Amino acid sequence: MSDLLSNSSTDIKEIFDSINLGLIVVNRQQTITLWNGWVEKHSGVPSINALGKDISMAFSEPPSSALISAISNAINYGLPVVLSNALHRSPLPLYERNFEQRDKRIQQSISLTPINIGEERHCLIQVADSSTSIKREKILRTHSELLKKEATTDGLTGIYNRRFFDEHYKMALAQAVRQSSSISIFMVDIDFFKQFNDYYGHIAGDKALIAVATALKKQLQRVSDVVARFGGEEFVLMLPNMQQESAAQFAEKLRLAIWDLHILHEESDIDQQVTVSIGYSTFSGTDTCDPHALLDTADNALYNAKRSGRNRSVFLSYQPLEEQKATIP
Ligand code: GH3
Ligand code: MG
Ligand code: MG
Repeated sequence: MSDLLSNSSTDIKEIFDSINLGLIVVNRQQTITLWNGWVEKHSGVPSINALGKDISMAFSEPPSSALISAISNAINYGLPVVLSNALHRSPLPLYERNFEQRDKRIQQSISLTPINIGEERHCLIQVADSSTSIKREKILRTHSELLKKEATTDGLTGIYNRRFFDEHYKMALAQAVRQSSSISIFMVDIDFFKQFNDYYGHIAGDKALIAVATALKKQLQRVSDVVARFGGEEFVLMLPNMQQESAAQFAEKLRLAIWDLHILHEESDIDQQVTVSIGYSTFSGTDTCDPHALLDTADNALYNAKRSGRNRSVFLSYQPLEEQKATIP
């Protein structure tokens, strides 16, 4: 297997050949003096053909030029070099199972170590298969992205969940206060949805919820706009920089978008189809704002929409919590 080991015991040769790592040694002229079994297996080049050859000529395809110049740097300056796997995925033409199949090129981590043999400086090239660790890293990354997504989206409808809304709402409101800009909040609740479920069944209920969530989401245009499932058959929307007049138009747009779905609801007291009631409120950026108070105001507006007949949108101007308590009959 090597020139270097020709006088050493065959035990050492066995050890080198059993190592699950590629080992190549080149001298100052970049001539190969060691080529272990792992490199033989993955390059398809037997050591007998490689030894004594220039490393640029030893493989079936030339190694990357970055590797060749890294080797000469290691030898000339006597400093170890590690080829970053992120920049150099597979500098050598090495393949996963065996070379004949040329299935998949191995992703490699290569380290170069200058070693002195006698008077002459050589370079030890260690090649590790990093394909598995890269694959594992990729799986872990996808997994954590998925977990993050799951933690912020509603499992049924695919829109954001309450947790995501709560976090982003507080930030958006704080920004509106800081910049003295407006923000409108809409609470949307499906009318007589209990009857819908009772009559058509839970699966049909779920389908209706998905259709309503999708239709609401379609009405949003800006990246800062958010729609989330607030709970059950209730949704919440947050639109930064939307003032009261636009909010009134937008609330009707939402209501009509659901109407236009024409989901049959024979048990509804309103019409033969699914409708929503909407309560909304606007913070106009003129004062400080308590996040709970603005949501409660929109919720009170929703309550008024239900009480006054459903299938409508009702506005209530923002009231701080103390004022809300004072106005409760
Ligand atoms: P209102 O017009 O006053 O809002 O009446 P409602 O019947 O819509 O309101 P209520 O709060 O009495 O009932 C809400 C129903 O929503 C109860 C439950 O059957 C249904 N619901 C809540 N979450 C889900 C869900 O995830 N899937 C399905 N299929 N139904 C749900
Ligand atoms: Mg309802
Ligand atoms: Mg409800």
